[in-house]
Amino acid sequence: MTSRIQRLTPQLVNQIAAGEIIERPASIVKELIENGLDATCQHIDIDIDNGGIQRIRVRDNGHGIDKEDLVLALDRHATSKICDLSDLSQIKTLGFRGEALASISSVARLYLASSTDTSNQGWQVFADHGNKPELSPVFHLQGTTVDVHDLFYNTPARRKFLKKEQTEFSHIETLVKRLSLSHFSIGFTLQHNKRLMYQLDPAHTKIAQEKRITTLCGTAFTEKAIYIDMEALDLRLWGWISLPTFSRNQTDLQYFYVNSRMVKDRLINHAVKQAYHDVLYHDRHPAFILFLDIAPELVDVNAHPAKYEVRFRENRTVYDFVRQCLEKALTNTTPAPVVAELVPLFDRPQANTKEQTASIMEEYITDDSRQQVVLPLPVSPIGIPSPLSTATVAEKPIIHADCVSSIQPTIAITPNPPKQIDQHPTPPLGFALAQLHNIYILAQNAPGLILVDIHAAHERILYERLKQVSENSAVATQVLLIPISLHLSSKEAQILEEYHVLFGQCGFEMEKLGLDTTIVRQIPALLSPIDIQQFIHNVLSDLNKYEGTQRFSEKINELLSSIACRSALRAKRIMTLPEMNQLLRDMEITERSNQCNHGRPTWRQLTLSEIDRLFLRGR
Ligand code: ADP
Ligand code: MG
Repeated sequence: MTSRIQRLTPQLVNQIAAGEIIERPASIVKELIENGLDATCQHIDIDIDNGGIQRIRVRDNGHGIDKEDLVLALDRHATSKICDLSDLSQIKTLGFRGEALASISSVARLYLASSTDTSNQGWQVFADHGNKPELSPVFHLQGTTVDVHDLFYNTPARRKFLKKEQTEFSHIETLVKRLSLSHFSIGFTLQHNKRLMYQLDPAHTKIAQEKRITTLCGTAFTEKAIYIDMEALDLRLWGWISLPTFSRNQTDLQYFYVNSRMVKDRLINHAVKQAYHDVLYHDRHPAFILFLDIAPELVDVNAHPAKYEVRFRENRTVYDFVRQCLEKALTNTTPAPVVAELVPLFDRPQANTKEQTASIMEEYITDDSRQQVVLPLPVSPIGIPSPLSTATVAEKPIIHADCVSSIQPTIAITPNPPKQIDQHPTPPLGFALAQLHNIYILAQNAPGLILVDIHAAHERILYERLKQVSENSAVATQVLLIPISLHLSSKEAQILEEYHVLFGQCGFEMEKLGLDTTIVRQIPALLSPIDIQQFIHNVLSDLNKYEGTQRFSEKINELLSSIACRSALRAKRIMTLPEMNQLLRDMEITERSNQCNHGRPTWRQLTLSEIDRLFLRGR
């Protein structure tokens, strides 16, 4: 039996199209808020009843809609935002497809009221399918109100897919959060079942913006976030990113906007993930609110009906820019203070050069490894951390790359130290006093006491060194007089095969002998004293856990990170004072040495005044 072709009714066409943008009440809220934002309003009120299933009302004080255009606004493909094809290549508004009001009114009852001036006289229209909508006058302040009732009343099949009221409302809440984080200068109120949930005043200053962020994302985030603002060529990346010491087990605190449009972009996500890759555990996720500003003609926003996805004309440039900016910002981060509630954070002081630290060391270190060294403790004009090597970022022509400020208050270290003491400046991380339970180093520096987690610090130093070595492809190796034979499972053998070249680059020489035996003939010199057999089993098991789809450079970092962790000084080993001091000096000149490869802090400062406060001194 053949069926005949017939043209669908406009109502059905709209209902089918609505499927693409109206998934649930939150989708409607998104479209209506975006319309208000496009109408350059200063304030948006959102009232929700019953999770938005029963009613959604969004009111703005924007420029409004002319009486003559009210009915047209409800039509499909009717928009004031673009006129021709050339407009499409440089979209500056959030909407432009002219579909939202038509789609919403095809699956719910929609009232639209608006006024374009301050006369309080407006017009309203009710979208009544099939029938020509009638205009009637109404009292209305300048701006627009859209009132949506009974979602999916005429499409029962879709109504069944709606979740409980509370779930639908939480989607709306997330959405309002996302939109209000990207439009700080707009005030928002959100009510649910007549209860006020949020009242966000317009936030014009950075302090006010951070207050809004705290309201929406919690103090834990703002306390552990830094503000960045970086530019290169036509790109700017700014916003707030969490320090590696604050991470989450899900990606719920990740907000990314391209030209103020919220997007969920895989490319961007990957760039961010890679930037944090060196400083976070694999199953942890960073938190961020980031804004990418890019020339509108370099991004295609018409890639998705709900416009959550975008396409960049130069994918690679955007990817590298985001990744390198974040890597640079994270390279210069500081761990939190020991007694967080009591004192603000100290910026991490750093030695200026390797030579400076080395010469200081020569003066103080004695050969008697076990004996406590008595050190004069001068205060040096320890400065603002000098930016470490910016090699990675500098590959691209970054014009201005600067970690502008931290949300946390910081204390400036006194720029004019007392006269009598500047002959022997103390290095930033001070000198070792002792080892605590063989796990921590206690060291004395100018501000007070330093505590170092030996394993974490050593792991980072090794990792950074290995990375440098592998980049310069000049690994010091050691040929084993007696080759070691390894018995590998088939899975292990397969991973080794996959990473064979990389192991080679790191200084290993291995040869497969038969199905399950591999011979190790040469190892990197850094590793010589440890149990190579167990070591390789552990590294292979680490590598097995990571995804198999990474690029070459990422794989090598996985391998190096695992090698570093597996070979770092284990806690519980007794260290001599010179060894401890050497570790402190190494930390001072190592990039990212504030966190281990998994994001744990490597050291903490306890200042004298904090210690005084612990003992209630000077009260
Ligand atoms: P789009 O936003 O893609 O243009 P919509 O269906 O959302 O499509 O809206 C259609 C038109 O109605 C818009 O182009 C705009 O001119 C007008 N409009 C809708 N909402 C508002 C509003 N809140 N304020 C002013 N004009 C609006
Ligand atoms: Mg719109």
